[in-house]
Amino acid sequence: MGLIVQKFGGSSVADAERIHRAAARAMAARNSGHEVVVVVSAMGETTDDLIQLAKDVCEYGQCKIPPPKREMDQLLATGEQVTIALIAMAIHAQGNEAISFTGGQIGLVTDYAFSKARIQSINKQRIFDQLKAGKIVIVAGFQGVTPEGDFTTLGRGGSNATLVALGAVLGAEVCENYTDVDGIFTADPRIVKKARKIDRISYDEMLELSGLGASVLQTRAVEFAKKYNVKLHVRNSQNDRPGTWIEAETRNMEHIVVSGAALKKDLVAVTIKEVPDKPGVAARIFSEIATHNIVVDDIIQTVNDNGTAFISFTVEHGDVTDIRPVVDKLISDLGGKTQAIYRDDLCKVSVVGVGMRSHTGVAKRMFEALADSSINIENITTSEIKISCIIKKEDGHRALQLVHDAFELEKAR
Ligand code: ASP
Ligand code: MG
Repeated sequence: MGLIVQKFGGSSVADAERIHRAAARAMAARNSGHEVVVVVSAMGETTDDLIQLAKDVCEYGQCKIPPPKREMDQLLATGEQVTIALIAMAIHAQGNEAISFTGGQIGLVTDYAFSKARIQSINKQRIFDQLKAGKIVIVAGFQGVTPEGDFTTLGRGGSNATLVALGAVLGAEVCENYTDVDGIFTADPRIVKKARKIDRISYDEMLELSGLGASVLQTRAVEFAKKYNVKLHVRNSQNDRPGTWIEAETRNMEHIVVSGAALKKDLVAVTIKEVPDKPGVAARIFSEIATHNIVVDDIIQTVNDNGTAFISFTVEHGDVTDIRPVVDKLISDLGGKTQAIYRDDLCKVSVVGVGMRSHTGVAKRMFEALADSSINIENITTSEIKISCIIKKEDGHRALQLVHDAFELEKAR
C-alpha cells in the first residue's frame, strides 16, 4: 500500500484531545498498511496570537515599526514546532512509533522571501529512512529554512504548501487535508446557509476559488498540486465522511456550469490615474510591483482621450503597506499629474466553473441576479472559467447569496 500524507490544520490540533484524535487517525492509516507522514499547523489560533505579540512589542510606547520580517518568521515558526512534538508524544503514548521534524531538519530549503517563501528543495532521505524504520513521520508545516538555515515561513495557511510539496516529492497516493469543515462548499456556509459540499472539483476551479477568497486551501498549494498531479482530499477531522476530492479535470466536470461562488473581502483596489499612454508603462509598473513579491489581480486599463490612461488593480489588504511606497516611487518617476487612489470599501463576488468554457449565458445570469437586487457592479473581470464582479463591500454577503441562488448551487448534480 502506498504512502499517505495527512495534514491537520490549527483547529484539528487545538488541544490535547484533538491532538490525540489526530494521532489516532495517523495510526489507523499506518495500521492499515500505509506509510504515513503527518504535517501539522500551529495549535488553534497560535499564529494569530504570535502575530499580535509581535505587534505589541513593535508598537510599544512610542515605538512603531512593522515587525522585522526575518524575526517575524523566527517567531512564527515556533508555533508548528510545538505541535509536531506533541503529536509525536501522543503517538508514543498510544503505543506507536513516531518522530518529529522541523522544516530545517528535513532540509526543506526555501528562497529568502520571509513571510511568503517558496520551497526550493526537500531532502526526502531522512523521511524515507524513518518510514522504513516503521515510524510515523511528523513534519512542521508552514516553515522552511534559507540555504543558511534561517527560518522562513510560507505565507498564511502555508502548511498546505508543505503538505502538497511533501506529497509530490514523496510520491504520495493521496494528500489528506484535515480541517474543521466537511470539505469545499459551493460558497462559504457561514454566509450562504444552503451551501452544499462539493464531492469533486478540478485543480483549476479550486485555484480560482481559493484565489477568490475560499479560505480552506492556500492558492499556492493548489498550484503545486496541479503541477505535480497530487490528489488532494479535504476532510473533516471530526468525522469519517468523505470530503472533497481535488484532482485533474475529467470530462464529466464540464456538465456543471458553475461549481462554486466566492466572496473576497480583504482586497484593496488601487487606481493609478493619468499615467502616460505609451508603450512600456504598464510593463514598468507591474515589473516594479513584481520585484517586491506583491501579487496583484483584476488589472484593468482604461485609455482616456488626452493621451493618458487609468490603470487599476487589486491587492490583498495585508499587502497595502508594502505596495504604497512602490506606487509612490512609480508616481514620482512617471511625473506629470499621475496620482493613486486606494479604495478598501469594495469586495469581489465571483462564480467559477469549468463548464463555462462550453456554456454561454453565464455572465448574463450573474449580472441580472445582481441588477435585480440593485447591486451596482463597479468592475468586471473574467477568465475562461470565472466571472468576478467588484461591488461595494456592504453588498457582499447579499450578492453571494444571490448568485448562489441564481445558479441553484444548492442542488446536487
Ligand atoms: N499556522 C499557519 C497559519 O495559521 C500555517 C497554517 O495554519 O497553515 O497561517
Ligand atoms: Mg493556522
